[in-house]
Amino acid sequence: MDVSVKNLRKEFDRYPALNDVSLDIRSGELIALLGPSGSGKTTLLRLIAGLEQPTRGSIFFGAEDASHRSVQERHVGFVFQHYALFRHMTVADNIAFGLTVRPRGQRPPKAEIRRRVGELLEMVQLSGLEKRYPNQLSGGQRQRVALARAMAIEPKVLLLDEPFGALDAKVRKELRRWLREFHDRTGHTTVFVTHDQEEALELADRVVVMSQGTIEQVGSSDDVYDRPNSPFVFSFIGDSASLPVTVNEDTVRFQDTSIGIVPRASEIAIGSGTLFFRPQDVVLVTDPAVPALEGRISTSRRLAGTRIADIDIGRAGEPHHVEIEVPLDAQAANGTTIRFRPTRWKLFGA
Ligand code: ADP
Ligand code: MG
Repeated sequence: MDVSVKNLRKEFDRYPALNDVSLDIRSGELIALLGPSGSGKTTLLRLIAGLEQPTRGSIFFGAEDASHRSVQERHVGFVFQHYALFRHMTVADNIAFGLTVRPRGQRPPKAEIRRRVGELLEMVQLSGLEKRYPNQLSGGQRQRVALARAMAIEPKVLLLDEPFGALDAKVRKELRRWLREFHDRTGHTTVFVTHDQEEALELADRVVVMSQGTIEQVGSSDDVYDRPNSPFVFSFIGDSASLPVTVNEDTVRFQDTSIGIVPRASEIAIGSGTLFFRPQDVVLVTDPAVPALEGRISTSRRLAGTRIADIDIGRAGEPHHVEIEVPLDAQAANGTTIRFRPTRWKLFGA
């Protein structure tokens, strides 16, 4: 089911938790809403579900304006971070819940419910556990039961709000892969909320980056990582370093050092701007004749296959600070002077 959100605004006591958000979610797509805490992800999800009413704007399910439809009428499935299963019910009864509470005429017969629960358990790869109680399951298994329960009503859209947020890192990673594979198998239109950029990049067909109640960028993982369209997206996704620069007709300079040529298609006004680059997109420069940024290593830390050095850079009175990646065999003792150039960078207006 295609879902379209048009000019959505949601205020809580006049405070805009969402401000003029528009988004087209395509049928069968797995989309991630990614943003820091408080950016409006849950609010957007609850508006799609019908758990909140918009202050302004509308929500379409396919061609139908669903803005005034009830939660039940929207046929959405949910999984939340702490969506506790019913503790006193078996796995099978938990999964069947959405079907058994239907009004009489719409409730499937018992045998049909049992068959459906069996199918759903198979779908989430938990066959054989139907008689267990939630406290006899691992955290990851519980969230898969929650997913099966959400799927039981044959939802038009699956809404997952940080479903793996309470699990430890290793299980999270496993479930992330598992969910992607599950989605490829079942093809449900899915909206997945997370504040974890790695999770979003790995899992989603498209990533919606949110900040302060608005959408900053929508694109593939490659788009938002390699072609971030704002300083916020650049620094929120992946590691980044930034420096204030001056821009004239053809060159970009940090203090006295030329960093490169202004990109031809650049819309950056002459004057000042901010240069962003990733710590890994630098080369060390040893030839003193080659212009380079020069700084002093203040500290460095070893990662698995590389080293990240903290560099104090800039002339006295105008100090700046960047992190860059240096090869493990480079001279990187604290206090060492180091020269480098960013190989890929992006310029934003000041
Ligand atoms: P996220 O899920 O990205 O962390 P939320 O959508 O939960 O963000 O919240 C967005 C903003 O709206 C936050 O500033 C939050 O405090 C506020 N907010 C969310 N729900 C309510 C509510 N029921 N009442 C008042 N403020 C709320
Ligand atoms: Mg939230």
